[in-house]
Amino acid sequence: MTACAAIIVAAGRGQRFGGDGPKQYQSLAGEPLLRRTLRAFCSHPRIDAVVPVIHGDDTLLYAEAAAGIVNAHKLRAAVIGGAARQDSVRNGLEALAAASPRIVLIHDGARPVVAASLIDAVIDGLTHAEGAIPALPVVDTLKRIQGKDAIGATVARAGLVRAQTPQGFRYPAILAAHRSATGHNLTDDAAVMEQAGHRVVIVPGAEANIKVTTMDDLARLNDMISETRTGQGFDVHKFGPGDGVWLCGVKIPHDHGLDGHSDADVALHAATDAILGAIGAGDIGQHFPPSDPSYRGVSSDRFIKHAYDLLRARGGMLVHLDLTIICERPKVGPHRARLVARIAEILGIDPQRVSVKATTTEGLGFTGRQEGIAAQAVATVRVAG
Ligand code: MG
Repeated sequence: MTACAAIIVAAGRGQRFGGDGPKQYQSLAGEPLLRRTLRAFCSHPRIDAVVPVIHGDDTLLYAEAAAGIVNAHKLRAAVIGGAARQDSVRNGLEALAAASPRIVLIHDGARPVVAASLIDAVIDGLTHAEGAIPALPVVDTLKRIQGKDAIGATVARAGLVRAQTPQGFRYPAILAAHRSATGHNLTDDAAVMEQAGHRVVIVPGAEANIKVTTMDDLARLNDMISETRTGQGFDVHKFGPGDGVWLCGVKIPHDHGLDGHSDADVALHAATDAILGAIGAGDIGQHFPPSDPSYRGVSSDRFIKHAYDLLRARGGMLVHLDLTIICERPKVGPHRARLVARIAEILGIDPQRVSVKATTTEGLGFTGRQEGIAAQAVATVRVAG
């Protein structure tokens, strides 16, 4: 039995967005924005069915967005939307006619950060009314514009609120109201219910429940759902025959080389592990097994680039990379600026996000005996939680 259904309205073309393709399919923290919205409803224990309403041109984009959602059994076949939002919602409501749920929530596909507690509040709001919507107080002073940019009047804000979604309704009432409102082009579903004379109540909305309208909104949301993480890496390579050592993608002349399967760039190996560690993506040996002959002698640039690409694919960014190279010789200090610049170049990031330090172990231990070089790295990243 379907007691509570959710309609996710994602058929819009996003005229104000200006990005590449419809906003509901833009990448947010490494996945299509709409996937987050669908997941919020599919994973809510009080929701039995989720009906996406999409644009007829977006079936492939939708299939990708809907892939891999938990509780996918709740997801009904996508319904194709109409000319205006109101038409799309009505199509979604009609698609539920056979299931005839007691309650339906109608939500903007472009509001991906909707808390389970907000969904609960809307459902609970329906106990005493045919409709319940989340809303926030208006805190800014409102002005009515006259002409292009002049103020015509100050609008009293007392009693005004900003309506959000999900908007919840008793299903038979909203279906009937939508059927009779066809062609009126109302901007939200509460207005459809109001027009039909039903009582709609307000529950507290959430500032985080942003509707993505512009690229700025997307960037703000991305930042909001990201958290700071750190990863650390450590590596050692021993000296062998050669005329220089690779450190941070730069060959530094020396009376030895470093032994290793690849170019033995101990600094880049530590940095690669630090980035992988920050996103919980294993270690360098898993991604590039030493047993694989194809990595013999290769530049370690590709190892760190691979780790960085994994971070980027999750919508993450490298905030800072701090490296410490530990050896008696060669002297690293004089090369430091070049090493920083080279890492920044490999990753395509600002050199100010990279730090390379060098130290010795005062003649103690294997680095003190000049048997090899050790490196430590700490990567700080921002990535979706
Ligand atoms: Mg190594």
